Amino acid sequence: KKSKLRQLANVPAVTVDGTEMRLQANISSLKELNVALSHGACGVGLFRTEFLYMDRQHFPEEEEQFDVYREVAEKVGANHVVIRTLDIGGDKHLDYFALPEEDNPFLGYRAIRICLDRKELFKTQLRAILRASHYGNVKIMYPMISSLDEVREANEVLAEAKRELDQKGLPYNAQIPVGIMVEVPAAVTIADLLADEVDFFSIGTNDLVQYVLAVDRMNEQISHMYNPFHPAILRLLRMTVEAAKTKGIPISVCGELAGDERALALWVALGVHDLSMSAHSILHLKSRVLEMRKTDCLELKDKLYQCRTHREIEQLLHEFALHK
Ligand code: PEP
Ligand code: MG
Repeated sequence: KKSKLRQLANVPAVTVDGTEMRLQANISSLKELNVALSHGACGVGLFRTEFLYMDRQHFPEEEEQFDVYREVAEKVGANHVVIRTLDIGGDKHLDYFALPEEDNPFLGYRAIRICLDRKELFKTQLRAILRASHYGNVKIMYPMISSLDEVREANEVLAEAKRELDQKGLPYNAQIPVGIMVEVPAAVTIADLLADEVDFFSIGTNDLVQYVLAVDRMNEQISHMYNPFHPAILRLLRMTVEAAKTKGIPISVCGELAGDERALALWVALGVHDLSMSAHSILHLKSRVLEMRKTDCLELKDKLYQCRTHREIEQLLHEFALHK
């Protein structure tokens, strides 16, 4: 089975009726990139840079970050790499950077909030990403965005980083696309406004599910309540996708649900063709894409929207998969 799947590495993921899905990889290191490429990833839809900051004594310098981002960009070639800016806090800590003790770290000092509070740190990373953009198809993505003001403030730091590179005469892609993770419920509800100011959306279902259902994604006691097929999630996914389509910006998904075969028909139905997932899910998902039809998925869409419970949604998707 495994070797048969391997043969699919260089085959494009196209449905029977001709819709191409771009199956990309989530990575956090160069090593993971190599695995992803050997599994036929169509680029990197999420580079979790925080792991570059972990297991060390101090923040990585611009030069060191640049080397890694550049190597990733070069290896990915014509496909894109979406580099997400630092997403620490929540469950992720750095030994050398004392975060405050918090009652609710996932609702606290985290990700873009830290970056906008520590702008030098943020700008160093942005300079490194910008410099790497000269060597490949690099995009920037901000995590945990919950308001327009955050996007604007982050973009001001980005503009400053560009000016500094200009002064030094260092090359970068001045038109580098800038997108956001849609993973906080507030971002979904103002998705139409955000879409006016960013170049793309990527839905982070891991956090979105936890914030929408008020279920800590790390708490095993309530893990049975952490259900991405809850109708509330479906409604928010629909809103986000519709906002992106109305405003004409690309949309992708990079949470675990992107690599979950149960959700595949849902993405096709919603018209989300860019999915970013763990490298190990790519070949299997591709084998499913190759045997499905977009027209069937579209028929499923209205039925999914009418479901009243997560069980009904799961059942519908399960039956659909059985008949393929
Ligand atoms: C997400 O929240 O869905 C996501 C992809 O980001 P992370 O899992 O790194 O928080
Ligand atoms: Mg997240």
